[in-house]
Amino acid sequence: MAKPLIYTLIIGFLLTSVISHVDAKTNTTIVVTTLTVLKDYVKQIGREHVTVTSLISGLENGHSYALKPSDVLAIRQAHMFVTIGAGLEVWANQLVKSAQNNSLEVVVSSKGISLLRNTGTMHTHHKRHALGNPHIWLDPENAKSIVRQITTRLIKLDHSNKRDYLANQAEYLRTLDTLQTDIKRRVKKLSDRRFVSHHPAWPYFARRFGFKIVGNIIEQPGTEPSAKHLSTLTQHIKKEGIKVIVSEPQLNQKIPRILAQETGARIVTLTATPGALPGTNTYTSMLQFNVLKLAEVLTP
Ligand SMILES: [Zn+2]
Repeated sequence: MAKPLIYTLIIGFLLTSVISHVDAKTNTTIVVTTLTVLKDYVKQIGREHVTVTSLISGLENGHSYALKPSDVLAIRQAHMFVTIGAGLEVWANQLVKSAQNNSLEVVVSSKGISLLRNTGTMHTHHKRHALGNPHIWLDPENAKSIVRQITTRLIKLDHSNKRDYLANQAEYLRTLDTLQTDIKRRVKKLSDRRFVSHHPAWPYFARRFGFKIVGNIIEQPGTEPSAKHLSTLTQHIKKEGIKVIVSEPQLNQKIPRILAQETGARIVTLTATPGALPGTNTYTSMLQFNVLKLAEVLTP
């Protein structure tokens, strides 16, 4: 007696998985992202049609993230997994393998975006970032490219809500354009746009909005700077009259503090991922927050 029921269930399951990739219980596409910024993009486009979680929280360091057993489970149960790629989530391939989820839609969102090398600093070492700098999303133009890829994949998995996804995308792309205009207007008023950054998170942001990164405390994510590097950086800050050091809440504050004490430069704490500081819960509010804080310290 149990047999036919089992078969019905199996056939039913197979049919639903062929017809739609939507979760039966919540009627949503289950999406897992590596970063909170990607989670925000998915929410902006998917809204009520998606259930989305980020593996890494806003306050965790994406470069030194250690996988948890619950991450494998999350990927096993997901329909879609969104990553940046470009060497940022070095553990992503292994995670996907371990999860053994054959129908998983994997999005490597840096695809098609040309990567910057860590240039513009006093010293450049590319050993770890052989692929280029992965912090692409801090340029809203790159964010648009990521968003478009997410939209395409959501439509692929859930064709019935295509019109909603496209409408949400159009609205969000307009929001990103407005944001860029606002930021450019604000930055235009600044005569000094130079800063030292804690780790090389900001080259895309700087290129888009006309800031100049004169050096990095940490040149290679996950490593400690040498005493020689710090002494050169200190001299450089003094000689050039650099007034601002950009730190991040995900990193150890000790070295920026010492550097600030020795040079008289001011520390401003910005975040490259949403949710790490109050008022930065979305990508757009995070960028506005960062620019506002930077403008405050750069204005004499
Ligand atoms: Zn980083």
